[in-house]
Amino acid sequence: MSDTDNKNLIEETHIDKIRLIYSFTILGASALYLFSFIHFIGREYFIAWFEAIIATGAIFNIILLKLSKGRLINVAENFILIGTIILLTGIIIHGGIANTAIYWIYTYPLLSFFFKGNRAGLFWNILLIAVIISLAILDYLEILNIPYTFPEIRQALSAYVVIMVLAYVFESALLSSYEKIKKLATTDPLTGAYNRYQLFKKLEEEIERSNRYGNRLSLIMFDIDNFKSINDTYGHHIGDQVLKTTIETIKRYLRRADILGRFGGEEFMIICPDVDDKGARNIAEKIRKLVKDLKVENIPEITISIGVAEYTPGEDITEFIKKADIALYSAKKKGKNRVEIYNSDSICLIPVRKEKQLA
Ligand code: GH3
Ligand code: MG
Ligand code: MG
Repeated sequence: MSDTDNKNLIEETHIDKIRLIYSFTILGASALYLFSFIHFIGREYFIAWFEAIIATGAIFNIILLKLSKGRLINVAENFILIGTIILLTGIIIHGGIANTAIYWIYTYPLLSFFFKGNRAGLFWNILLIAVIISLAILDYLEILNIPYTFPEIRQALSAYVVIMVLAYVFESALLSSYEKIKKLATTDPLTGAYNRYQLFKKLEEEIERSNRYGNRLSLIMFDIDNFKSINDTYGHHIGDQVLKTTIETIKRYLRRADILGRFGGEEFMIICPDVDDKGARNIAEKIRKLVKDLKVENIPEITISIGVAEYTPGEDITEFIKKADIALYSAKKKGKNRVEIYNSDSICLIPVRKEKQLA
């Protein structure tokens, strides 16, 4: 799967939800206006007005969502779920044709679990059950008159709970496959580090944060030395093992805030938020030593060369990466297994091939 495919997959999931809110609202509101019209003709003014108001509220809800460019998706979802509970309460009290209105409650588990996920979805379902039980109690106390017998309410609620549990199970299964897909789309399967797409995304975010709040930001770029000869001598399988062990070791050492990703081949990057280049050099020195002490099969020594660069406000992502790459190239040039910090003097060392690669 390419980087672009991954990006589309993640972004489309969010867009899909918004699209579903639009289609659900347009469909639901149209049906409500139709019912409202039928009730007006039948001179049932209370329920007719009630349906028309809920339908209009739903339309306003999607206008709000559209105006906020999708940012108010959470609010819109909550409005839909509250609106649906109010609507269901109204039609349960009304009863519908031959007391069939209560069947509409079965739409709620799917709706709430889809919008809110399994945990919060459960809360919304319990809220609806509580509302229905309250209506039954009010009916029993003769405060309110709802047109159902006790066995009707009991059967409807029992069926509701079964559907709710099934919807919960399906939603949980769906969420766990979504998590798996997300992991596949954002990480490198061999090393578990972020993949290139996710790495760039995180770096863009950190650059934006640094520009907005003025915090320091550093980038560590490292490349395994003579990796081709490790592959040639010990086999590709052992090469993979070296990559895996190296990254696992480095990951264990890093802080939670540091972001480790695979730039390509045996080249990796660590984004260090709130760290200047001196701090990043210390981190780099430490990981260089950790890797040097690693034992994989009978390889005498695994070493890495490291380039460190600090972000200068206003720089774009390409310029920032290029600085770390120049420092890394300088470390290779000076004999490998070492750390170099970027300084503008090292620019002359950059070969034309690397410049082209980064542009
Ligand atoms: P240098 O010290 O200058 O970095 O030299 P090098 O041999 O490490 O670098 P070079 O670019 O010549 O070779 C990198 C090799 O890494 C070539 C490529 O086949 C290998 N490689 C890239 N990705 C993987 C991988 O996922 N697994 C294995 N086993 N090898 C990989
Ligand atoms: Mg290498
Ligand atoms: Mg390389």
